[in-house]
Amino acid sequence: MGNYNNLETINFLKKLPEDVVIPLRQHKGAPCKPLVSVGDTVLAGQQIGEAVGLGSAPVHASVSGIVAAIDELPHPSGNKVISIVITVDEQQQSIEFNSLDNPDQSEIKQIIKDAGVVEIYGTPTCEVIENIDTIILNVTYESSMIAGCVGINSYSSQFYKGLKFLMKASGAKQAIIAVNRNNKEAFRILSNLKLESNIRVVPLKIAYTLNMENLLVYDILGARSQMGGKSQDVKVAVCGVNPAYEVYDAVVNGRPSMLMPVSVYGPVGNPQSILVPIGMRFKDIFEQCGGCNGEPGKIIVNGLYTGIAQYTDEVPVVKQTAGILIQSPSEILSVQPIPCIHCARCVDVCPVDILPTRIAILADQGKFDDCRLMHVMNCVECGLCTVECPSKIPLLQLIKYAKVAIERAYVDMAEKESSNLTLGCESCEGGV
Ligand code: SF4
Ligand code: SF4
Repeated sequence: MGNYNNLETINFLKKLPEDVVIPLRQHKGAPCKPLVSVGDTVLAGQQIGEAVGLGSAPVHASVSGIVAAIDELPHPSGNKVISIVITVDEQQQSIEFNSLDNPDQSEIKQIIKDAGVVEIYGTPTCEVIENIDTIILNVTYESSMIAGCVGINSYSSQFYKGLKFLMKASGAKQAIIAVNRNNKEAFRILSNLKLESNIRVVPLKIAYTLNMENLLVYDILGARSQMGGKSQDVKVAVCGVNPAYEVYDAVVNGRPSMLMPVSVYGPVGNPQSILVPIGMRFKDIFEQCGGCNGEPGKIIVNGLYTGIAQYTDEVPVVKQTAGILIQSPSEILSVQPIPCIHCARCVDVCPVDILPTRIAILADQGKFDDCRLMHVMNCVECGLCTVECPSKIPLLQLIKYAKVAIERAYVDMAEKESSNLTLGCESCEGGV
């Protein structure tokens, strides 16, 4: 698997790729409206996509060059998304980055919005910090192999200043830095920062990954959002380390979101965390990491159990890309499940107290009604049950299968709450 020493600090790119692919959708909302045409010259930092409504964030050129194409191209979400392809030039000129001296609350808010900063779960940061009184900075995400956490090692003072800008912009009265209790390096760094009295560090025993924002809020503050709700419903914003760094960079240096720290691990020559321009294709990143050792069996973005497997290495880095895991074909084949030994480890680790083993069996049998009664929809898809299972049963995969089946069976949440659930196709008349 190679040497992982280079994962814990951010390394810099040795050579720019020939082109980059910048998707116009790197957020939850509608795709941006393109502001350039094929043949245009663009400068690094230039806005090339305009946000369209709520949940949408502007996109910027991460390099200078010529717009070679605007087309639907593969995206790490698994879909095709309208993207701007820029052929990289040698000059690498950027726009003039301007910043304000001592900006006030509304100016900082506007800077964050214009810079296109987006949280890893896809919501623009400027929307996340609306109407809140607490910010939780999530440093638990995945392990230290994920660049979102590595950032704290490399940019500790900058991310801390970014957090303070977020507090000023939102008017938050307090901030909490949530750290995995095993991350001793993060505690050491944070203890050197001389935190202000309204900012505290909270050690937590698990990593709070995507979909776990509400659980994170509940575990720290005891505040409970409605199922399917947002942390803002209880006046809390959950932000990531890299967006906090980007806020710092935007406010202090006037630079928009255009670079991402990405951790690359698995069978490549030199696994590392590397700062790359948004839009750099995975295959070009692998080359910078010494190339893949043989044909990759699987490429997974943002974690083995909670991430998304990619069907091509042509996909680009976007604002939600934190880690890229490569698995060799033999690693995939070596994971063959055996029958459940009823050890209950999956039950013990489940942070939402459901019964993964039981639900997985029911999902496998297509008994989605029963899965729902066993609160499968409460699953936050952390993957801990799958990690712990000694029988290598794909618990999360089966649970997701049940959740998707249930989601599809209802038109809206109100119907989901009804008791007369019927699932199944016409031929089996809804029987399960
Ligand atoms: S069922 Fe598994 S994936 Fe879902 S919350 Fe529990 S431990 Fe996490
Ligand atoms: S951890 Fe695996 S083997 Fe143990 S009870 Fe759960 S499903 Fe069964």
